[in-house]
Amino acid sequence: MTDLTLTAPRNAISEVDPALLAAWLDARGEPAYRTSQVLAGAHLPTAASFDDLTDLPRALRADLGSAFDFSSVAGSHVLVADGGETAKAVHELADGQRVESVLMHYPARGRAAARTTICISSQAGCAVACPFCATGQAGFGRQLSPGEIVDQVLHWHRSPWLALGRDWRPGTRTGHYNIVFMGMGEPLNNADRVFEAVRLLNDPGRLGIGARHITVSTSGVVPGIDRMVDELPQVNLAISLHAADDDLRDELVPINRKWPIAAVLGAGRRFAGVTGRRVSLEYVLIDGVNDSLQQAARLADLAAGWLCHVNLIPLNPTPGSRWSGTAAASVSAFAASVRSAGVPVTIRDTRGREIEAACGQLHAQLAGRELPGRSDVRRAEVPVA
Ligand code: SAH
Ligand code: SF4
Repeated sequence: MTDLTLTAPRNAISEVDPALLAAWLDARGEPAYRTSQVLAGAHLPTAASFDDLTDLPRALRADLGSAFDFSSVAGSHVLVADGGETAKAVHELADGQRVESVLMHYPARGRAAARTTICISSQAGCAVACPFCATGQAGFGRQLSPGEIVDQVLHWHRSPWLALGRDWRPGTRTGHYNIVFMGMGEPLNNADRVFEAVRLLNDPGRLGIGARHITVSTSGVVPGIDRMVDELPQVNLAISLHAADDDLRDELVPINRKWPIAAVLGAGRRFAGVTGRRVSLEYVLIDGVNDSLQQAARLADLAAGWLCHVNLIPLNPTPGSRWSGTAAASVSAFAASVRSAGVPVTIRDTRGREIEAACGQLHAQLAGRELPGRSDVRRAEVPVA
C-alpha cells in the first residue's frame, strides 16, 4: 500500500504528484475537485501562501501549510539593475545551499516585440568547471529537485517585478515569459529532475508554460541532448560552444575532453534534424582568447549548412579573473566574419553588470554571508519609485 503520510522530506506543492495530493485530500474527507483547485490556487500570481487561497476552508489551508512547502525558495534576496529591466534573486534552499535566478525585461525594439525572460538554475554549483564561469569555479554543491527548479519560476511569477517593464511602471501582466536554463549548473547533468521540472512547467493545471518558451542550455552532455530529442522535442536547445577547435575548447569547456566538438555538434544536428527546431550555439567572446578572425572562420565552418544560429556574448568578467570581454568593435568584426558564411548571428548584450548577474557571480560574492532582507521578500521587492 502507498504511504500517504507527507512528513519528511517536505514536498514543494509545485512538484507534488496530483494522485498523491488527491489521496491526501480524500483522507481528509475533501471532495475530488479540491485537487485541481489547490494546484491552480498555488500557481496564482497573487498568492503568497496557502492562507491566500481563500476559496479553501481555513482548516484545510492550515493543514496544507503543515504538509507542503508553498515555496522551497522562500528565503530570497532580490537586487535590481538596468533601470528595473533586470532583477536577480539569490534563493536560499532548506539546507542552506544558494542558487540564483534572473528576470530580464526586453522592451520592444524595431520590429521585435517586448519580451520577458526568466533565467533559472538547475544545480547548486556545477562540476563542469569552465574557467570563465563563477559557478564553475565554486565547484559542485548538489542537484536541485524539480520543485526547487519550478519554485524559482514561481518566485518571479508571484513577484511584482514580473509586471514591471521599462521605467518601473506597472505593465500589463500578460503571463507570457520565456524560461532559460542558463543560471547555475549543467541541466543535462541533472536531466531526470530538469525534465520533470519542464513537464511540471508545461502542465496546464499548473503554470501551463509552452515547451516552445523553454530553452535548455548545455555545455555539451551528448547523451542528455539525445534524450531531449526523444523526451522534450519541443523544448529549445542551446549549446555553449565558446571555441571552434578542440584544443581551446578542452580548456574553456572542460567537458569537451569527454564529448569533443564533433560529438556535440553531431548531437545538435540530430536534434535539429528530428525536431525541426533551430539550435543556438552560444559563444562567449573573451578578449585575446577565442575572438580571433581565425576562430570566427572555423566557427562559421562548424555552423554553416544546418539549422542553427550563433549567439555572441561578450564575457562578463568574474571577480579576480584575468580575462575580459571582447571590445564592441572586435565583436562586430567577429560577427561579420561568421555572417559572411551565411550563418545567422545575434550579438547579445550583457545584463545586470552592477548586480553580478552573470552565472554564479553574486553567489560567489555573498558566500558565507547572511542574505539581507530574506525574511521579507515581498515587501523588499515592491518598487520604491
Ligand atoms: N551549464 C549550462 C547552462 C548554465 S551557464 C551551460 O554552460 O550552457 C549559461 C550560459 O552562461 C553558458 O553559455 C555559459 O557559458 C555562460 N556564462 C558563464 N559564465 C559567463 C560569464 N562570466 N560571462 C558570460 N557568459 C557566461
Ligand atoms: Fe557549468 Fe555552464 Fe558554468 Fe560551465 S558555464 S561551469 S557548464 S554552469
